[in-house]
Amino acid sequence: MRPLVATIDSAALKHNLAIVRRHAPRSRVLAVIKANAYGHGLMRAAAALSEADGFALLELEDAVRLREAGFRQRIVLLEGFFDPGELPVLLKHGLATVVHNMEQVAALDALPDGAKLDVLLKVNSGMNRLGLAPSEYPHALERLQRNTRVGGITLMTHFANADEARGVAWQIERMQRLPGYDSLPRTLANSAAILRYPETHGDWVRPGIMLYGCSPFPEGAGGDDGLKPAMTLESSIIAVQELKPGDALGYGSSFRAERGMRVGVVACGYADGYPRHAPTGTPVMVAGRMTRTLGRVSMDMLCADLTAMQKAGVGSRVILWGEGVPVERVAEAAGTVGYQLLSALAPRVRIVER
Ligand SMILES: *Cc1c(COP(=O)(O)O)cnc(C)c1O
Repeated sequence: MRPLVATIDSAALKHNLAIVRRHAPRSRVLAVIKANAYGHGLMRAAAALSEADGFALLELEDAVRLREAGFRQRIVLLEGFFDPGELPVLLKHGLATVVHNMEQVAALDALPDGAKLDVLLKVNSGMNRLGLAPSEYPHALERLQRNTRVGGITLMTHFANADEARGVAWQIERMQRLPGYDSLPRTLANSAAILRYPETHGDWVRPGIMLYGCSPFPEGAGGDDGLKPAMTLESSIIAVQELKPGDALGYGSSFRAERGMRVGVVACGYADGYPRHAPTGTPVMVAGRMTRTLGRVSMDMLCADLTAMQKAGVGSRVILWGEGVPVERVAEAAGTVGYQLLSALAPRVRIVER
């Protein structure tokens, strides 16, 4: 069997949920499990996070799967319904929906008698992605409050800069001016705001990345906040090459040995979700020691420098990211973020649970 495997640590998921609660003790936790739980597997992550007060994701079919598997807590569709024809499914399964545009507000007028649909009314407080303009919001709120088929209404927004210097105050100021800010339940905080801005916690917090043990901050590492990586991507050395001075390595011959080198070929490539743009020097662990990648990442393989590791060879264990190799640092080397690496784990990678 190909040695590449992603190990998912359920205990780490539970641990990270406990860290969310420690930071936001008075808030309920809406665990964000979109994108196949950031690559960790939807049902597996939901089971590990079953103590969460709710789950948030995008696909209606996945929400239904959670209900059918017996999850009873709140389930929220983060982009709302895409077509009014989906509303009977939301009602049947007791799903809550984000409402972020006037078309969705209007569609709720046609809910059937006896319906009680919980909604999260999302305001665009400056990110300019999803949400009603603050000027549209009072009208939308009134219309939803008049609609007897709408159940609970939670006020929602999303922060654009919670992970960087600009911060959240400018967006909170816009939210505080809205009618209902103090009287309606509200949900504002993603992982970065949970960790950095207690004033944003409100009634529901919405952690995503931190549940998986990865830092939301570009220069951070999950360990700084006591988080544990929930995914470890590991493989083995499947071949060793001895390079002479001047020998080139891999596609494009982009790496050339200046002296004699030992190179380990690792069974993991970009078709597994490892970033193709990771340059020579990206951190990787072989046989328990940190070393670096060499040359271009190819579809199914990449290369690790074993020059200073004479004992490492075919069969040596390689950690691409996870325990001992922060996914944040691999992402940083490749010019991306841990979010992308985790959620882009390819379906062909075998997943085992610990
Ligand atoms: C993805 C997402 C989150 C979680 O964000 P993290 O940075 O992963 O914590 C929260 N809220 C909304 C609306 C999202 O789309």
